[in-house]
Amino acid sequence: MNVLAIGAHLDDIELACGGTLAKAAANGHDVRMVVLSQSDYANYRGETFRTKEQALREGHAAARELGVRDLVVLDNPTKDIPYHSTIVEQIEEHIDDFKPDMIFTHWAFDTHQAHQGVALSTISAARRHPSILMYEPISPSGRSYVGFRPQAYVDISATIERKLSSLRAHESQYQKYGDKWLEAIQARARHRGFEGGCDYAESFEILRMGLAL
Ligand SMILES: [Zn+2]
Repeated sequence: MNVLAIGAHLDDIELACGGTLAKAAANGHDVRMVVLSQSDYANYRGETFRTKEQALREGHAAARELGVRDLVVLDNPTKDIPYHSTIVEQIEEHIDDFKPDMIFTHWAFDTHQAHQGVALSTISAARRHPSILMYEPISPSGRSYVGFRPQAYVDISATIERKLSSLRAHESQYQKYGDKWLEAIQARARHRGFEGGCDYAESFEILRMGLAL
């Protein structure tokens, strides 16, 4: 099976579905991660939190921790990835080239403007595709005024440690948020696992699901 995960920033995909991708890769499926920006950023005062070089180095290290070799990083503005034909077509190119059986993207109600732009652009790009799952909003940036509805669960008990290692590989983010960040991510996986009948899980909202019978 070919599994395509789309994200705005280096670390988004790992945070939301890293355990799922690590599991898919370990089970012999082909996994591609497409990140729409180089993910360097500063705040409005101009204080840099992450340089481009840092983000790319960390992103590749994180993908390795997941066992994913196919990581594509595009070059749109980190904070402004719009719902726009240029973004739709960049994603469409990867759908045509990689021919995924399943597509993961941001949740359409995520409150980070770039996450939302990527989610909506993926939905347009995948208009002829049967299977799109939206991953749970990124913590802490993607909290929303709408409730996320967990509808599909993936047991990641065997890969939760790889997911956490991939997040530690994002050293600049780890330094910014500290151990509580990882503890929160692990706790959410524990919570979803309890709901899903396993130790640790990641959950998804189903936009469309093709059933192979
Ligand atoms: Zn992000």
